[in-house]
Amino acid sequence: METQLIGAAPQKILKDIFGYDDFRSNQGNVIDHVIAGKSGFVLMPTGGGKSLCYQIPALALAGCTIVISPLIALMQDQVMQMREVGVRASTLNSTTPTEERRQIIAQLHNDGIDLLYVSPERLLSDGFLDILDQCKINLFAIDEAHCVSQWGHDFRPEYAQLKVLAARFVHVPRIALTATADERTRKDILGVLSIDEDATFISGFDRPNIKYIVTPKSNPKKDLERFISTHHARDSGIIYCLSRKKVEQTAEWLKEQGYHAMPYHAGLSDAARATTQERFLKEEQVIVVATIAFGMGINKPDVRFVAHLDLPSNIESYYQETGRAGRDGLPAQAWMTYGMQDVALRSAMIESSNATQEQKYVEKQKLSALLGYCEALRCRRQILLNYFGDDLEPCDNCDICKTPPESFDGTLAAQKALSAVYRTGQRFGVAHTINVLLGKDTEQTKRFGHDKLNIWKKGEEHSNKEWQSIFRQLHAHGLLSVDMESYSSLKITPEGAAFIKQKQEIALRVDKSVRSSRSEKSAGMIERMLTSEQDQSIFEALRAKRAELAKAQNIPPYVIFHDKTLIHMAKIKPQTPTDLSLIPGVGSSKLGRYGDDFLDVIMHSA
Ligand code: ADP
Ligand code: ZN
Repeated sequence: METQLIGAAPQKILKDIFGYDDFRSNQGNVIDHVIAGKSGFVLMPTGGGKSLCYQIPALALAGCTIVISPLIALMQDQVMQMREVGVRASTLNSTTPTEERRQIIAQLHNDGIDLLYVSPERLLSDGFLDILDQCKINLFAIDEAHCVSQWGHDFRPEYAQLKVLAARFVHVPRIALTATADERTRKDILGVLSIDEDATFISGFDRPNIKYIVTPKSNPKKDLERFISTHHARDSGIIYCLSRKKVEQTAEWLKEQGYHAMPYHAGLSDAARATTQERFLKEEQVIVVATIAFGMGINKPDVRFVAHLDLPSNIESYYQETGRAGRDGLPAQAWMTYGMQDVALRSAMIESSNATQEQKYVEKQKLSALLGYCEALRCRRQILLNYFGDDLEPCDNCDICKTPPESFDGTLAAQKALSAVYRTGQRFGVAHTINVLLGKDTEQTKRFGHDKLNIWKKGEEHSNKEWQSIFRQLHAHGLLSVDMESYSSLKITPEGAAFIKQKQEIALRVDKSVRSSRSEKSAGMIERMLTSEQDQSIFEALRAKRAELAKAQNIPPYVIFHDKTLIHMAKIKPQTPTDLSLIPGVGSSKLGRYGDDFLDVIMHSA
């Protein structure tokens, strides 16, 4: 089938093979550029559609496209998806058996393969480049190109050696793709791969389908359960925790609540981790509770939520982790709960690390940018995108836009809080300090004579919860710090001292615990997009058919059709193969393989 596509218009390939009508953002431009034989650099957010930028040229040009990818799981996933749409794709990596390798090399020689995914190690070893010299190669696609740079967070030494490509394959264009690259990383990529600065294609960083929510931490497990049961009872999601122990406990607890939850962290055996990853991909409604070890290489398009029970290390990581939600473009949520202890813990981690003073300084700056995000008084998406240098109108799809926080003149409260910290000798934590402000008799307040202080009982205008919020915000504003080394005791920072001395003013946020109603319980986000009951039941039937077909072939359901495609089917109810081929995501190969099965379901449940 593929040879007849050589020279075909990209738009035609998009429709016939992938079943989509229009290109997204820069896709069309990038594809034209590459087909014209020029190298380029593509920066697109996760889920933006980077893959098509080289997959379509691979089909439109004679010969084979070599895709360099850092992770075996990623390569396998892509090969699976390509084969489903009828493209001749394979992968060559450290796990490929010799016989298969020989076959692939033979196919390379006689033009029998369109897309070959290789690990950088493979590409650079065993005389593989000599083999490529003798074959018709039309393009090198370097996926996750930020691995080239020492500045990036995933530096791979082999990626730096890809310099050889430009020198050796002078007439073969290179396309570098990534979702994360700051200025320095970008320069490195362009340098190593000899790509012209002008040939840079940058799409906005925004992920408009993700709703961002941050809530103050009071009862994290309960709040998490409420969030999931209200919005995601039937969805797949990822929950990030900082420690292995917490990962285990949270997964266990969710299981007790009746969810299909599994732990994932570096302390588990390879086999256990592989099973978890496989079940996450191949089953539906699975929740993985994980440390950050989980995520890279997880291309699952229908992750409906990402939750953080602990503070991530900075905005870059947060954006990358939350970016794993909603790759398919359907509504998804990024939910985080955070409290004072999180901040203290992160600060302590920076302090006690082996980093140089300069690095520690940078890390602290990054942490405070993240705190600014947590304690935001304006649109969260604006704050995130500003951080990456993009401008944006308020988004109407974050908790702040939906329910704008009220602020109050927090000057007096701040003065009282700082004074209580000072009077108690900067040796106590938040709980005790609040007890003093509220005049709550405890063994400790008596023992230290804190009931004799003039600040005793002077904070009764605020509740305990409100004081917690005030202390958190004062910390985020840099007026207080927490000393983890001495029982999390509060200290007044130089900024805090200046605040008192110069009689500064401060506006603080009124924390309302936003409680969503439980009436919507037990639906997933997808179900709610289908308004009629009939459509919902067709969707369920389609989903069941998809699960059955996926199971029979041992592939993830989304490789057959995305949820989005099933939603369209349920709404439009196509009756003929031609009708069905008009649904986004139904290309000719899938129409041939699965068309009748799904038409049958629609016929019998409509
Ligand atoms: P990235 O690699 O940038 O994270 P992918 O290439 O995996 O993103 O694409 C994300 C999803 O968007 C895929 O499921 C893909 O099928 C879909 N997609 C890509 N381009 C289009 C398009 N032009 N129209 C509709 N869906 C698209
Ligand atoms: Zn917003």
